[in-house]
Amino acid sequence: MSRYLGSVCKHCRREKEKLFLKGERCGTKCTLDSKRGKNIPGQHGAQRGRMGRAKVSDYARHLREKQKARRIYGLTEEQFSNYFKRADRMKGLTGENLLRLLEMRLDNVVHRLGVASSRKQARQIVGHGNILVNGKRVNLPGYPLKQGDVVALKEKMKENVIIKRTLERANRFPSWLSFDKVAASGTVVATPSVSEFSHPIDSQLIVELYSK
Ligand code: SF4
Repeated sequence: MSRYLGSVCKHCRREKEKLFLKGERCGTKCTLDSKRGKNIPGQHGAQRGRMGRAKVSDYARHLREKQKARRIYGLTEEQFSNYFKRADRMKGLTGENLLRLLEMRLDNVVHRLGVASSRKQARQIVGHGNILVNGKRVNLPGYPLKQGDVVALKEKMKENVIIKRTLERANRFPSWLSFDKVAASGTVVATPSVSEFSHPIDSQLIVELYSK
């Protein structure tokens, strides 16, 4: 499946909750706050939106949770399913492993450090080779980080107006990351705990979906 290029607000409308896919703009002008935002996308969206309290099948509940997670982290079906397989092979709870793997992606860490206002923007910054991991240039958004890794912005990007503005606004970092704003460099000091994942996701529903 190729990458989705349409309006990302549709994803929020479909999942009926804010997934914060547009960065700063989500805080000021969110489609979900408008009347249209109450409707599910598609030809019969308005009607289905009104039927919001209709019974949702068990399968739909599981599917929606998986889609929500996939959309938050901006992954294709294939990529998401590969993450699940990896999480399943690891020790511990598969659902938690899955979300931890997603949190430790380089693009997610760049976003959570406040260098980029959204994961999409973070992917672009990484893809253009503007991020160094332990002093080496890494241009893979899905690069898996581990505890102790140091993520830094390339010298010339420290003067980028958009990044500077985004960094100025960043004031909350999860405890598993430390960040030096002056050096524009952060360290993965621990692996993220369940309570510190980006978004509340019921990972058990995803595990059950893939086990069906
Ligand atoms: Fe979702 Fe942001 Fe669009 Fe609101 S503005 S619907 S939170 S992507």
